[in-house]
Amino acid sequence: MTDKVQNNPEPDAASALRPTWGLILAVFDVLEKHGYRRGDDQHIGRAIGLLGDLARIYAGEQEQPGGPPAALRTPPPLTAAQRDTLGQALADALIYRERKGYVKCPDCDVSPTSLCAGHGADFDRIERYTGLARDLGIEVTA
Ligand SMILES: [Zn+2]
Repeated sequence: MTDKVQNNPEPDAASALRPTWGLILAVFDVLEKHGYRRGDDQHIGRAIGLLGDLARIYAGEQEQPGGPPAALRTPPPLTAAQRDTLGQALADALIYRERKGYVKCPDCDVSPTSLCAGHGADFDRIERYTGLARDLGIEVTA
Protein backbone atom coordinates (compact mmCIF):
# COMPACT_ATOMS: atom_id res chain seq x y z
CA MET A 1 0.00 0.00 0.00
CA THR A 2 1.35 3.38 -0.95
CA ASP A 3 -1.29 5.53 0.73
CA LYS A 4 0.07 8.19 3.07
CA VAL A 5 -2.45 7.41 5.81
CA GLN A 6 -1.49 3.75 5.82
CA ASN A 7 2.26 4.46 5.74
CA ASN A 8 2.02 6.87 8.64
CA PRO A 9 0.45 5.37 11.78
CA GLU A 10 -0.10 8.83 13.23
CA PRO A 11 -1.38 10.98 10.34
CA ASP A 12 -1.61 14.69 10.85
CA ALA A 13 -5.07 16.14 11.42
CA ALA A 14 -5.50 17.32 7.83
CA SER A 15 -4.79 13.93 6.29
CA ALA A 16 -6.95 12.19 8.90
CA LEU A 17 -9.88 14.42 8.01
CA ARG A 18 -9.76 13.84 4.26
CA PRO A 19 -9.10 10.38 2.80
CA THR A 20 -6.91 10.40 -0.30
CA TRP A 21 -7.95 8.90 -3.62
CA GLY A 22 -5.27 6.28 -2.98
CA LEU A 23 -7.06 5.15 0.16
CA ILE A 24 -10.47 5.28 -1.52
CA LEU A 25 -9.32 3.19 -4.49
CA ALA A 26 -7.47 0.74 -2.23
CA VAL A 27 -10.60 0.16 -0.12
CA PHE A 28 -12.74 -0.25 -3.24
CA ASP A 29 -10.17 -2.75 -4.54
CA VAL A 30 -10.47 -4.74 -1.29
CA LEU A 31 -14.26 -4.67 -1.59
CA GLU A 32 -14.05 -5.97 -5.19
CA LYS A 33 -11.67 -8.75 -4.09
CA HIS A 34 -14.23 -9.76 -1.48
CA GLY A 35 -16.98 -10.03 -4.08
CA TYR A 36 -18.65 -6.63 -3.75
CA ARG A 37 -19.46 -4.95 -7.08
CA ARG A 38 -19.54 -1.23 -7.83
CA GLY A 39 -22.94 0.45 -7.59
CA ASP A 40 -24.08 3.59 -9.40
CA ASP A 41 -22.38 6.96 -9.00
CA GLN A 42 -24.79 8.08 -6.28
CA HIS A 43 -23.94 5.04 -4.15
CA ILE A 44 -20.22 5.43 -4.85
CA GLY A 45 -20.50 9.02 -3.59
CA ARG A 46 -22.15 7.83 -0.39
CA ALA A 47 -19.51 5.14 0.03
CA ILE A 48 -16.75 7.74 -0.33
CA GLY A 49 -18.47 9.90 2.30
CA LEU A 50 -18.73 6.95 4.65
CA LEU A 51 -15.11 6.06 3.97
CA GLY A 52 -14.18 9.56 5.14
CA ASP A 53 -16.24 8.94 8.27
CA LEU A 54 -14.53 5.57 8.75
CA ALA A 55 -11.06 7.12 8.39
CA ARG A 56 -11.86 9.92 10.88
CA ILE A 57 -13.44 7.51 13.37
CA TYR A 58 -10.44 5.17 13.04
CA ALA A 59 -8.12 8.15 13.67
CA GLY A 60 -10.16 9.27 16.70
CA GLU A 61 -11.16 12.48 14.97
CA GLN A 62 -14.89 11.76 14.82
CA GLU A 63 -17.31 9.87 17.06
CA GLN A 64 -19.92 8.55 14.63
CA PRO A 65 -20.77 8.47 10.92
CA GLY A 66 -22.11 11.83 9.85
CA GLY A 67 -20.93 13.36 13.11
CA PRO A 68 -18.82 16.47 13.42
CA PRO A 69 -15.02 16.21 13.40
CA ALA A 70 -13.42 16.24 16.85
CA ALA A 71 -12.36 19.84 16.30
CA LEU A 72 -16.03 20.81 16.06
CA ARG A 73 -17.28 18.77 19.02
CA THR A 74 -19.34 20.55 21.61
CA PRO A 75 -17.06 21.68 24.41
CA PRO A 76 -17.71 20.40 27.91
CA PRO A 77 -20.16 22.43 29.97
CA LEU A 78 -18.80 25.30 32.02
CA THR A 79 -18.17 24.72 35.71
CA ALA A 80 -19.95 26.92 38.25
CA ALA A 81 -16.74 28.90 38.78
CA GLN A 82 -16.30 29.40 35.01
CA ARG A 83 -19.91 30.56 34.72
CA ASP A 84 -19.36 33.07 37.55
CA THR A 85 -16.22 34.35 35.85
CA LEU A 86 -17.97 34.65 32.49
CA GLY A 87 -20.90 36.42 34.14
CA GLN A 88 -18.53 38.91 35.73
CA ALA A 89 -16.65 39.44 32.45
CA LEU A 90 -19.93 40.10 30.65
CA ALA A 91 -21.01 42.48 33.40
CA ASP A 92 -17.72 44.39 33.07
CA ALA A 93 -18.12 44.51 29.29
CA LEU A 94 -21.71 45.74 29.60
CA ILE A 95 -20.71 48.51 32.02
CA TYR A 96 -17.92 49.58 29.67
CA ARG A 97 -20.17 49.62 26.59
CA GLU A 98 -23.02 51.37 28.37
CA ARG A 99 -20.76 54.13 29.70
CA LYS A 100 -19.16 54.52 26.28
CA GLY A 101 -22.46 54.29 24.38
CA TYR A 102 -24.30 56.97 26.33
CA VAL A 103 -21.64 59.65 25.85
CA LYS A 104 -22.48 61.18 22.49
CA CYS A 105 -19.81 62.51 20.19
CA PRO A 106 -19.80 65.19 17.41
CA ASP A 107 -20.55 62.47 14.83
CA CYS A 108 -23.65 61.49 16.81
CA ASP A 109 -24.79 65.13 16.73
CA VAL A 110 -24.80 65.22 12.91
CA SER A 111 -26.17 61.71 12.42
CA PRO A 112 -29.81 61.50 11.25
CA THR A 113 -30.38 58.76 13.85
CA SER A 114 -28.48 60.80 16.52
CA LEU A 115 -26.15 57.84 16.87
CA CYS A 116 -22.89 57.50 14.92
CA ALA A 117 -21.64 54.15 13.61
CA GLY A 118 -19.24 53.72 16.53
CA HIS A 119 -21.82 54.40 19.18
CA GLY A 120 -24.39 52.32 17.33
CA ALA A 121 -21.89 49.45 17.40
CA ASP A 122 -21.66 49.85 21.19
CA PHE A 123 -25.39 49.20 21.50
CA ASP A 124 -25.16 46.25 19.10
CA ARG A 125 -22.46 44.77 21.35
CA ILE A 126 -24.60 45.34 24.42
CA GLU A 127 -27.38 43.34 22.75
CA ARG A 128 -24.97 40.53 21.83
CA TYR A 129 -23.52 40.39 25.37
CA THR A 130 -26.95 40.20 26.97
CA GLY A 131 -28.08 37.66 24.34
CA LEU A 132 -25.05 35.48 25.03
CA ALA A 133 -25.70 35.62 28.78
CA ARG A 134 -29.38 34.75 28.22
CA ASP A 135 -28.53 31.89 25.82
CA LEU A 136 -26.04 30.42 28.30
CA GLY A 137 -28.35 30.99 31.26
CA ILE A 138 -25.69 33.09 32.97
CA GLU A 139 -26.76 35.76 35.42
CA VAL A 140 -24.97 39.04 34.80
CA THR A 141 -24.85 41.27 37.86
CA ALA A 142 -22.98 44.52 37.80
ZN1 LIG B 1 -20.90 58.88 18.42
